[in-house]
Amino acid sequence: MPQSKNYYRKCELCDFNTHTSSAWSRHIKTIKHLANIEHQKFIKNFIVANRHIPYAQLQEIWRITIKLKQLKEQKEQQQLKQQQKEEAKLIPKEPKDLKQVCIYCIAVGEDKYVGHTFNLKNRISTHRQKCKSSERLLYKCIREIGGCDNVEYTELARYDNCDLTKAIEMETKHFYEVKPSLNMCVPTGKHISPFMKSVSNNIKQY
Ligand SMILES: [Zn+2]
Repeated sequence: MPQSKNYYRKCELCDFNTHTSSAWSRHIKTIKHLANIEHQKFIKNFIVANRHIPYAQLQEIWRITIKLKQLKEQKEQQQLKQQQKEEAKLIPKEPKDLKQVCIYCIAVGEDKYVGHTFNLKNRISTHRQKCKSSERLLYKCIREIGGCDNVEYTELARYDNCDLTKAIEMETKHFYEVKPSLNMCVPTGKHISPFMKSVSNNIKQY
């Protein structure tokens, strides 16, 4: 932008000056400039409203007034942040971390268990660990038939690009096909499975 010798504007409020009209147009729209105008209005109003008060007292009142104004602004900022946080919660998150899910079945004698996993090898290892002492129906039944070596794992299906919600949805589809007797809950975990085999011998339900 070429500078003009004729054009010159200086903003007393912002300690800003320029030789181009376009820069001046931009400046008068800046937040800093607009805030400084508001601040100046505030000072003028304050002096007019308190013109009957001696200068020394006025200074003290001014100090307190400014402090209160800052506190009010801080509080408004906090409220705004809180509001933004709450709004952010309402916006659905981008689907991320999409992986292949495996829907698997464990056959324990005549009984079955259906589950989903993003890593079948790790999941089997977890089942083996839990099998040692867990009081859940699946593990109790596995112990009854002599342990993990006597069960059979079957992959029912694999689905690409799944998040947890999608994985549970796919698991649910197979769950109602297989009607497994060793799942204690439906895949969403929200209620007890209608297919769970009835047991009375101290098996904890949840
Ligand atoms: Zn300005």
